[in-house]
Amino acid sequence: METVHDDKRLRSIYDAGQGYIYNDFEGDHRTKSSAESNKLHRAGCAQCDPRRDRNAMTTQTSGQKIFFATRKEAFDWLMEHRAGNYTRCVVCNA
Ligand SMILES: [Zn+2]
Repeated sequence: METVHDDKRLRSIYDAGQGYIYNDFEGDHRTKSSAESNKLHRAGCAQCDPRRDRNAMTTQTSGQKIFFATRKEAFDWLMEHRAGNYTRCVVCNA
């Protein structure tokens, strides 16, 4: 896993389209953590597009972005740290 701290890295993950991005609000003081807000996406999901006009994903908005290289890595981490407190994106069927 890798916490993504800058938008250049976030763009490269989206462009490569490999792996998963988890939008994590746990501990965020602006947006309360909830299963609905804590969302796992495939890296190439349209909702992860950092260049789209509306609601573009950035590392500056609330929710830390965590990258996982594989599905197994993502679910192992989620099971251990966010069990019952996350959802999978229905747009990309993560
Ligand atoms: Zn998605």
